Amino acid sequence: MSKQALFGKTLNEIKDICKELGMPAFVAKQLADWLYKKKVSEFDSMVNISKKNRAILSEQYIIGLTNYNKVQESVDGTKKYLFTTVSNQFIEAAYIPSENRKTLCVSSQVGCKMGCLFCMTGKQGFQKNLTTGEILNQMVSIPETDELTNLVYMGMGEPMDNIEEVMKSLEIITSDWGFAWSPRRINVSTIGVIPAMRKFIEESEAHLAISLHSPYNEQRKELMPIENVYPIEQVMDTLKEYDFGRQRRISFEYIMFDGVNDSPEHAKELVRLMSGVNARINLIKFHPIPDTPLTGSSDVIMERFKEVLEQKKVITTIRKSRGEDIYAACGLLSTKKMLEKNQDKDY
Ligand code: SF4
Repeated sequence: MSKQALFGKTLNEIKDICKELGMPAFVAKQLADWLYKKKVSEFDSMVNISKKNRAILSEQYIIGLTNYNKVQESVDGTKKYLFTTVSNQFIEAAYIPSENRKTLCVSSQVGCKMGCLFCMTGKQGFQKNLTTGEILNQMVSIPETDELTNLVYMGMGEPMDNIEEVMKSLEIITSDWGFAWSPRRINVSTIGVIPAMRKFIEESEAHLAISLHSPYNEQRKELMPIENVYPIEQVMDTLKEYDFGRQRRISFEYIMFDGVNDSPEHAKELVRLMSGVNARINLIKFHPIPDTPLTGSSDVIMERFKEVLEQKKVITTIRKSRGEDIYAACGLLSTKKMLEKNQDKDY
């Protein structure tokens, strides 16, 4: 039987493991410290744990950290890291430095089931959910790990479709015994999977980003099949049930497609839809991908759209495009080619 990874276990899970292995309870806290504060990659480095206990641990467990396989750097400083999962599949994480922030965009699944029309990951289909350890490994196994100021779950996959592992990763990142990050440094995105979104809102303090992309049901169905299951009005009604307080942020992501969702009527309808929800909106330029009829709106149209929203007092930002030349920009992450190559065993 292959050994399990310890990295990615919550403190309670580590306590259970220690109990099972006949170790005193305080070893669990020491282990969490080595895993999440000191981020060691071998049991021998855990010098305050007895040699005997280290030997018992290494008989059944591995630490489970994996290095990235490849990195590509954009002209704008964005870096795209490629990782192999335990089951030999590929995921990508994008490191996005700016003047004030060093943000990492992590993946939560290999591929995605949701089939959004404009997304390369969606076109790849679904391969698997990442484990908590595989999500966190993206954070700790890059050279910039200690510089990171912000984390966004906006890479490959729909985080709410892997909610258990995503929630455990958030627990480890924000707990005192873990990375001890403020949840205000984390933003988790969803296309609106309501039951999991509720769990996230109720059990986490991190920010929430909703991919909206059209205020009209029929059009949203064409862009995002999830609209057939959870219509956007239901998503809005769900948000209105909660008090997000002053610190916690909701934002709507709106990718702008030329001649599709970029008219002033769309902007006005968006304002109507958003009324009663205290949220900002991010307008995102679309990067054309293969096999889609969609193209991106011009800068002029995006500015005009923004003006309509701002006239109605909606806080609106046009997001700068990052890492486009290395396919690290929004919606461009895909490891389909590598997957095919891997299956042909010539990667
Ligand atoms: Fe999945 Fe998000 Fe891409 Fe939609 S946009 S297919 S939810 S990764």
